[in-house]
Amino acid sequence: MKTPTLAIVIPCYNEELCIKSTVEKLFLVLDDLIAKNKILPDSYLYLVDDGSKDSTWEIITDLHRGNKRIKAARFIRNYGNQKALLAGLEGVNAIGCDCAVTIDADLQQDEWTIEKFIDEFMNGFDIVSGIRNNRKTDSFLKKYTALCFYKLMNILGAKIPANHSDYRLVSKHALDILSQYKENYLFLRGFFYEAGLKTSYVHFDVKPRMAGESKFNYLKLMGLALNGITSYSVAPLRFVTVLGFCLAFFGLLVGLETVFEKIFFHNSPNGWATAIILLCIFGGIQLFCLGIIGEYVGQVFREVKARPRYIKEKELI
Ligand code: UDP
Ligand code: MG
Repeated sequence: MKTPTLAIVIPCYNEELCIKSTVEKLFLVLDDLIAKNKILPDSYLYLVDDGSKDSTWEIITDLHRGNKRIKAARFIRNYGNQKALLAGLEGVNAIGCDCAVTIDADLQQDEWTIEKFIDEFMNGFDIVSGIRNNRKTDSFLKKYTALCFYKLMNILGAKIPANHSDYRLVSKHALDILSQYKENYLFLRGFFYEAGLKTSYVHFDVKPRMAGESKFNYLKLMGLALNGITSYSVAPLRFVTVLGFCLAFFGLLVGLETVFEKIFFHNSPNGWATAIILLCIFGGIQLFCLGIIGEYVGQVFREVKARPRYIKEKELI
């Protein structure tokens, strides 16, 4: 296989404190790989400014002026990290590259692992996924909610490995396939698994955030998780159907028993507390199931409008 051109995609949202040193560190990696003849000298960085409100874009523009191997795009507003990643991958595919690596702007992922990614790519893999060695830098709650999410996804049939991250290498072939997936709220981790491409895994160490603070809160993470579930599994809908059937059957039995007692023992039912409890439980279950169905209706609603996934305000190539 010929030596590849590598593009590194970096989503940035309010990263003015990190971005300059991140770019410098990534160039150390690029230059090292170029010196080792593992990638071509025209390899470049592609920064996607996800509508930052601080001076991130000014810093990026300055960096681009001094070095044309720093390319960038700016969103008109904040669309979230998944959209920024997607725009980055589509952007570098349009500019041209043989493979692309996505990495966070705070460089929490060990950037020197990129060499292993390239080695695996040269071994013929289309996707090389970074798997975290540990979650030491995550809070207790984030760690366990993330683990539960991956467990749930696996139970629901979308077999995504746990401790998966958005640190991965994607080949040009995979990028071309990605461009055929038109859904608006594409769940990237699911896509890379579902597309059936040859995938390899590389473990990496997670470092604490370089500067600034995490741009994710639990609400955003929950949205990401819900989107992941509703776009890659209909198992919850089946669960609702089965649950509804079981409850209806249970209701029928209770009803029969009541009629039976009334006719043969002239016992009028006296369990008022039981009635209230059952009412609450079933009311709750019904609302919960409606909520699940609502999530899917919402998914259809968002997709059917076919709005643009994101709008780029500027691009520096
Ligand atoms: N990010 C983004 N848009 C957002 C939130 C985050 O592009 O709305 C970027 C952010 O700049 C960083 C990456 O996504 O490069 C991961 O974010 P962060 O480090 O805050 O998340 P954490 O590591 O805490 O999960
Ligand atoms: Mg981070």
